[in-house]
This record gives sequence, structure tokens and C-alpha cells, in this order.
Amino acid sequence: MDAQRTLRRQISCVGIGLHSGNKVNLSLKPAPPDFGIRFRRTDLGDHEVPATVHNLAGIQLATGLSRNEVSVETVEHLLAALTAAGVDNVLVELNSPEVPIMDGSAAPFIYLIQEAGVKRLQAARKYLKIVRPVAISRGDKRIALYPSDHFKVTYSISFDHPLLRHQSRTIRITEESFVEDVAPARTFTFLKDVEMMRQNGLALGGSLENAIVLGETGILNNALRFEDEFVRHKILDAIGDLALVGYPVIGHLVAHRAGHALHTEFAAKVLEETQAWRLVEATDEGIVTLPVGVKSATAAPRLAN
Ligand SMILES: [Zn+2]
Repeated sequence: MDAQRTLRRQISCVGIGLHSGNKVNLSLKPAPPDFGIRFRRTDLGDHEVPATVHNLAGIQLATGLSRNEVSVETVEHLLAALTAAGVDNVLVELNSPEVPIMDGSAAPFIYLIQEAGVKRLQAARKYLKIVRPVAISRGDKRIALYPSDHFKVTYSISFDHPLLRHQSRTIRITEESFVEDVAPARTFTFLKDVEMMRQNGLALGGSLENAIVLGETGILNNALRFEDEFVRHKILDAIGDLALVGYPVIGHLVAHRAGHALHTEFAAKVLEETQAWRLVEATDEGIVTLPVGVKSATAAPRLAN
């Protein structure tokens, strides 16, 4: 059986929020089958915010969720790490609105998950398997999912900047390829935009420690981690945003010049297009297609304290 997984034990870290600049405590806690990924703000009581498109909040420079007036921001890098590492069920506790930015990549979250260890649960994992193409486009921005036997991402970007005029990469996403080729890729921003964000009270925690900053002709940081670190980070963002469908996806995600707004709009559209996918699980008897209307992670039981 391809079993659902959770963490073996609780693990915590401290970081800062990219936009607030405030210190944040983050804890990842084991959770039962069909719990999904949920956030809890320990500074705001017991309300949980499941990481699904139903709880999408405003998208500015990062992806946010909210429910019952409890909001969490900048969830995408953590969601990408949890999804790629096969952690289906976890309670994420924060004492502040933002997931800490760490070094701007998903590598620190992978480190946390590996330190905690992963445990198989007595329940089959459900996948959202794409059976017909789904696509949306906005001007020259496009994103689509096509049937495939594996989860693959093809991303291309083009900017009017000498370092990243055009970059394109396809990666078949496994835990190993994510850890090696995607997780270390850091977020990036343009120096000309940093001042504007600061004036709007954003990116107050931003620094060369947690983002690649692009000047007119080059980067202000010492070095890139990959020659095409930028497009790899877009792949990371897309994996995190697509995780909001609530299940690991089997399909080929293809995106061009997209961003959080389009990624998350697309995740919501995929769920609406019920003809385009099947929920399947891998049991000892083989691949089983589940009936439509199967209980989603949002309807799962609460985690016992
Ligand atoms: Zn990002």
C-alpha cells in the first residue's frame, strides 16, 4: 500500500517573517490520516486553517490563507517541502501571521522534516490524477495540467534583465529531485521593487540572507546556488501553490510567466473541473479510483490534543 505519512515527532524552529520582520516560532506536529495540512495560530486560539483553495486569502507577493478571521501568510515554500517530502498530514503551528522566510528557499523546511523523520500511517494515500487537460491563461501568462504517469513540472520565465531573460526547466518531482534540484532555490526580487515594497510596509524582514536581489546588471548576493536558480524557485512556488488542491497531484504542470495569483486561481479551477481528474489510491490490489464526493481533507476529523 502507498500509505499516507506524517512526521515521526514534533519539531520546531525560529525565523523571521519576510514582510513583518518579526520573529516567528514554527512547530510541525504529527497528525492522523486524512487530516491534511493545517495551520494553527497559537496567538489566536484553537482555530485551524486547512491548506486548501477554499481558504485562499488575498495574494500579494506570497500566498496567504484565512478562515474564521485567522490568517497565515507566505505558506508556499513550506507547503512545497511538505508535499514533495510526502508528508500528507501535519499540524503547522505559528505564533505570528507569517511562516518564517528562513533563507528564502525550502531547504530549511526539508531539513526540519528530515530531522523529525517521516512515519507511515495505516491509510492509503489519495492522489488527484489528471485525466484531461486543464488550462488557464491571462495575457502571456499561462498554466496548465496534462495527464502524465508522474508529477512533473515544466516552468519558463522571461524578464527584461540580463541574468534571467529566458529560463526554462522540466523536473520530474520526487522527494530526491526536489531535495537536490528545487528546494535550495531561493526567492528573488528586483532592487528597484524593494524600495517600493518597504514604502508599503512590506519586505521589512527581507535581506540578502533570504532573497536573491537583482540590480541593473547582476545580483547583489555573492553567488547563485544554480545557474538557473530563478526558474527553479518558480517551480518550487508552483508546487507549493498547487498543494492547495489538498492531494498530491499526478500530472504534468506546465507554466509560463505565472505567479502566485495565477497558480492559486488555477488550483481552484482544477478542483472545479471534476471531469479533468480522478481521486485514486494505490492499495495492495492496485490503483483504485474513488467515487466522486469522497471526503476531502477539509472535512477530516480534528486532531486530538
Ligand atoms: Zn517563493
